[in-house]
Amino acid sequence: MNPNTLLLERALLPNLAGETPKGTSRPIADLKANILLVDDRPDKLLALEAVLTSLDQNLVQARSGKDALRQLLKRDFAVILLDVSMPTMDGFETASLIRQRPSSEHTPIIFITSIGNSENHIARGYSLGAVDYLLTPIVPDVLRAKVSVFVELHRQTELIKRQGEQLRRLEESKHQREMAEVADRLERETRRNRFFTLALDMLGIADFEGRLLQLNASWEEVLGYTESELRSVSGMDLVHPEDRPAMQEQMQALRNGCRTAQLEGRYRHKDGSYRWLFWSAAPFPAENLIYIFARDITPRKQAEAKVAMLNQELEQRLVALTTINGELEAFNYSIAHDLRTPLRSMSGFAKALLEDESSNLTPLGLEYATRIARSANYMDNLLLDMLAYSRLAGADMVPEQFTLDEPVAELLGLVEKEIRDHKISVEVGSPLGTVFAHLPTFKQILTNLLSNSVKFVAPDRPAQIRILTTRTPGYIRLSVQDNGIGIAPEHHEKIFGLFQRLHDNQTYPGTGIGLALVRKGAERMGGRVGVESEVGKGSHFWVDLPAEPPPPDGNENPSRRRQS
Ligand code: ADP
Repeated sequence: MNPNTLLLERALLPNLAGETPKGTSRPIADLKANILLVDDRPDKLLALEAVLTSLDQNLVQARSGKDALRQLLKRDFAVILLDVSMPTMDGFETASLIRQRPSSEHTPIIFITSIGNSENHIARGYSLGAVDYLLTPIVPDVLRAKVSVFVELHRQTELIKRQGEQLRRLEESKHQREMAEVADRLERETRRNRFFTLALDMLGIADFEGRLLQLNASWEEVLGYTESELRSVSGMDLVHPEDRPAMQEQMQALRNGCRTAQLEGRYRHKDGSYRWLFWSAAPFPAENLIYIFARDITPRKQAEAKVAMLNQELEQRLVALTTINGELEAFNYSIAHDLRTPLRSMSGFAKALLEDESSNLTPLGLEYATRIARSANYMDNLLLDMLAYSRLAGADMVPEQFTLDEPVAELLGLVEKEIRDHKISVEVGSPLGTVFAHLPTFKQILTNLLSNSVKFVAPDRPAQIRILTTRTPGYIRLSVQDNGIGIAPEHHEKIFGLFQRLHDNQTYPGTGIGLALVRKGAERMGGRVGVESEVGKGSHFWVDLPAEPPPPDGNENPSRRRQS
């Protein structure tokens, strides 16, 4: 075999050397050509077969022209060896019929004829499409050589046919692949276009000068210009003059290779108003293009502006209120202060009546004078509390670090008489720890809490007071607990308000200012107060005070940021 043919065959028919896949034909090298031997004489057929066996092809015998035609119906032949002299239907007749069939019209025919008839036969045979002649007696080598030529020719033809088929199939699959790729690309582009056109945000592609080349419908909706109007201007022309420098800076950054840029800016609407756009963009330097995503944030910006305006208004009102509050407190203070002078004379004269003129008074007169003295005393207490409260609200408080043990012991000493009179047992934790607070205010707070615990004792059991501290993050919690009459939950918040009292003055005397003062004082020191209490079981008042000074950099623990 021609080695080039073999190479070509291998290249084009990779499967031929190995297993033949379903639907493909056998390898060419293995394919045996069909050779039709036509002779009415069995001995001659046998002789032909004997000579051709060594070619290792598929030899098919036919004993007559009719038989030969039958064989041709069943398969294709590489060559037909046709005996000219046959009874009934001779070789020429047979050849003529073979040629009439389209499937065999080009099948090579070698006529076998005797030397004696050769001249006449040869001429007729060629006219019937014979390709060669063999003269009897047959020379085996000549027969083999001639048949081999046609076997090889058949093989080559088959090979070319297959190569053609293979090429066709390759081209077909390549074509199909290309078609699939095109369809895929189209599908992707369609999807991208859909994404582009349907997006609610503004999507656009601009050149490096900021001119919009492609944009979706949202631009028109937001800015009012048609697509062609937008494409005919530079994006920069629409930017608010104040926002242009920042915009130009971002564009330059993109041109210099910055991977993304983001900005908020105002863009002129067709109606002359400005819309706020937030946009982000990414450049594609290979094509000098910028891909832009923009969103209309005008409503948010308007809301922000409104909030800023309201905040400003609020701040102004706060300043005004603080001023008014300060003035009121000053007024309050001066009234309380000034009222004490006539009150003192009222109280002094009532006392003088009772002490110096009691013998001149009737019992009713004595009773009136006593009432005047008591009321004057109550009023004085009230004014003193009001003055204390006003002072606390307005005073500058310079906090310091101090231990609680000393002031607690000192203040317990002040109520020692009441403790003894009411047989109250007092328990104090030790050590109580240190706080960073304003000592005089702390004393005022504890005085009020202690005097309440001593005042609101339950009549049916021995009174107990416990003073202790616990640590919470950043704070020391001072607790003043008693087992007195207790407070209903619905009053827990209310009792810290000014002049809030739950009892009449006869049962439990007081002004209703004490706990308001406790709260105000604690808050002004950066702390807070609270109560846990149940009617008939006692009360637990607590005050959280800063344990440490705030850090010098001002980064105060957020839990410390409690102010009144
Ligand atoms: P005052 O003691 O002068 O009445 P406060 O502001 O100190 O005013 O207290 C407000 C009210 O809270 C009191 O009238 C009382 O009803 C209630 N209260 C305060 N402390 C206690 C306590 N330890 N036990 C029970 N009730 C209390």
